[in-house]
Amino acid sequence: MEKHWALIRCTCGGAYGSPRGTKRPCPHCGSTNGYESKLFETPDQLSEAVASSNLPEGIAQEVESKIAIQKAKAETKATMSRGGPEAIRRILQKSTTSEGIITVELLSRELLKEGYEEPTAEQVIGSAEVEGILIRKAPNLWAWLQ
Ligand SMILES: [Zn+2]
Repeated sequence: MEKHWALIRCTCGGAYGSPRGTKRPCPHCGSTNGYESKLFETPDQLSEAVASSNLPEGIAQEVESKIAIQKAKAETKATMSRGGPEAIRRILQKSTTSEGIITVELLSRELLKEGYEEPTAEQVIGSAEVEGILIRKAPNLWAWLQ
């Protein structure tokens, strides 16, 4: 019998079966960069090999929980950007010193702490300046007007 069935090793570490010569995407990550690491005569042999080649359960769970964490982070981020100007205003207030002074450094630290990559501190300060919320006191020093 010819070996028509391939065990594909994916770059993500997963293994899966595919008819030989067919670039089926990886069911774990969707990549087609895997390679045919072993060939089998029957689909049964192949599926057995797939089962024993795949990640041990512990690691698989770890990968899954990592994905869950990433998802949660992305959701938080989306929620925050939905928070819009009010959320940004709150962060702006939080980054202000007791003297009512704000700097790019203080603001960007606070933005990062809250998980913002966009808008940048420069952008936030820039638009707050345009809105008349902040006034520039020095090259890198702003104060609240309200
Ligand atoms: Zn994969």
